[in-house]
Amino acid sequence: MDETICYLLDSWANLYNNTVANDHLDISKVTEWDLCSYVKYPSVLMSLLLTDENLFENLPPVEDAVEVLTELNKFYNIRIVTDASGSITVLYGKLKWIKKHLPFVDTKRDVFFTSNKNAIKGDIIIDDGPYILESDDQGKILMDRRYNRTPIYHSGVIRVKTWKEIYELLQEDV
Ligand SMILES: [Mg+2]
Repeated sequence: MDETICYLLDSWANLYNNTVANDHLDISKVTEWDLCSYVKYPSVLMSLLLTDENLFENLPPVEDAVEVLTELNKFYNIRIVTDASGSITVLYGKLKWIKKHLPFVDTKRDVFFTSNKNAIKGDIIIDDGPYILESDDQGKILMDRRYNRTPIYHSGVIRVKTWKEIYELLQEDV
């Protein structure tokens, strides 16, 4: 979900930069997965992520994500698999976001909160995360981000930059 369907990093960095006086997280410089290595106060960064009550609910959708998922929903059973890090606040915010932006998703049946995403099976997995490599799902689509470009992440995975590309890829299958 994060950085695949909705943008998280800018909002999260703004929150951090507005909270700490003597550090500045510049998202445009992030090229590695672990955001904590870019800040002076990783515990503050993580605490904001897990406890801020407005962060997740207000995240902006990635361009075309909602439109493409709405269209794909006609042919696929869309499942949202996302990590709430055991935080009730994150879970609540993400669930609200899904209900608002993806109202066609059955939140009783098709929303899964877990850090063990490979436990949830599907024909096609779409994510920005490196663990996508370990998935044995048939189709693996990696949303290209600056922090997931290490060459190993290319193996067996189709890398895309936009949801329009995803739509075109999957149009060939339906
Ligand atoms: Mg993500």
